[in-house]
Amino acid sequence: MDKIGLRTHYAKEIKPELDSEEVVVGGWLRSIREHGRLKFLVLEDKSGSIQITAKRGDVSDSVFENISSLGKEWVILVRGKVKKNSEAPKGVEIVPTGIDVLSETADTLPLDFKVKAELDTRLDWRVLDLRDPKNAAIFKVQSKLIEEMTDRLRMMGFIQVFTPCLIGAASEGGADVFSVAYFDKRAYLRQDPQLHRELLIAAGFDKIFDLGPSWRAEPSHTPRHLCEHRGCAVELSFIRDETDTIKIEEELVVSALQGVKKDCREELELLEKDIKIPRRPFPELRFPEVYDILEEMGKKNRLGEGLDREGERLLGKWVEEKYKHEFCFVNRFPFESKPFYVMRVDEEPQWARSVDLMFKGLELSSGGQREHRYDKIIKQAKEKNLALKNIEWFTKFFKYGVPPMGGFNLGIERLTQKLLDLENIREATPFPRAPERLLP
Ligand code: ATP
Ligand code: MG
Repeated sequence: MDKIGLRTHYAKEIKPELDSEEVVVGGWLRSIREHGRLKFLVLEDKSGSIQITAKRGDVSDSVFENISSLGKEWVILVRGKVKKNSEAPKGVEIVPTGIDVLSETADTLPLDFKVKAELDTRLDWRVLDLRDPKNAAIFKVQSKLIEEMTDRLRMMGFIQVFTPCLIGAASEGGADVFSVAYFDKRAYLRQDPQLHRELLIAAGFDKIFDLGPSWRAEPSHTPRHLCEHRGCAVELSFIRDETDTIKIEEELVVSALQGVKKDCREELELLEKDIKIPRRPFPELRFPEVYDILEEMGKKNRLGEGLDREGERLLGKWVEEKYKHEFCFVNRFPFESKPFYVMRVDEEPQWARSVDLMFKGLELSSGGQREHRYDKIIKQAKEKNLALKNIEWFTKFFKYGVPPMGGFNLGIERLTQKLLDLENIREATPFPRAPERLLP
């Protein structure tokens, strides 16, 4: 058989207007049906599907016979003539003149995405699972979210930076850091690119973002935690206070959602989702009023406590009822619940200029204004009982001129999960890392 050559079109590009043109398409064989003198194939690629129709007599005998030897999920290249046909699924089909088999499959498929399977089984066979256009659509939406946020950031004068994933000291202490062998020493996988972002601001970078992974060695099995996740982490300087970072974050989220609504129509249709563009400004709640709201909702908190899962859920509900809004910022967290590097309100040091963004009752980001005054950083580190020598690599730079700054780290998988109402965050990353899952 002669070789068919290069693909000329994606399935989606085959339109009735191309009638009689010769094309080459390539993809996975999703179905084969035979009705006597007629054989129908459905070929699918990343763009969608196209029907290939072979009628005995209209196509060569060898092509006609060859079709019966093909199997589901084989990868094939098809050359043929486009034919307008109002009875075909998209008013158009391809009449094949040649078919090349690029890859065959084993006899039985371990996962048929057309049959509903448990998430664990799906993840075991993730590659096959992601052939379901609905599951693939999640990642087209995710890619768009990132594209819009980073475009917007660049437009606002931010530059992208890469900060280290391997760090020499576990910055915030804690048991939930992964440690790795690093020659004859220990290194740790970062939990957040936070501290190095601050250092680049100290270097004068002014407005930066880091798009990258963080790791959490949390053995908890929740539908909102991964052991490896990604964040869009933003830092900017010469701010007046934390409300300047709130404005930037709001802008990013709104742009991201607008972009998805505009450019991901087909994906949203597949996923049966409608995107509501949130009204600006987003509601902003502050501690200690947050305690009153929670109490009104039936949850009593101790002074100094931050938000637990139940608290997040109740606040989300309250905001939805009161403001008809899916987003809200929570500001002025108790210093007790936040790390040493946050900035406190000078006059009310119990409260920090720490901000979380909530979406549908789930934390989407944490951030706020950072403390840039050396003396205060040291004082706060002492209050948190940190060994000063362990953080000296970071704190020492604050003696040499650092402007006021703030930022946030927004979880990409959480944003995707909540936007598309996915039950489990594992669906929002192609190959999730969870306590029980390190493969594939
Ligand atoms: P949570 O309290 O929900 O566990 P966190 O406060 O520990 O989150 P941060 O350190 O504030 O998380 O991280 C910034 C953002 O990164 C979070 O708001 C969230 O969107 C995302 N994130 C953090 N940890 C995880 C995780 N284990 N899996 C997925 N996303 C995460
Ligand atoms: Mg947080």
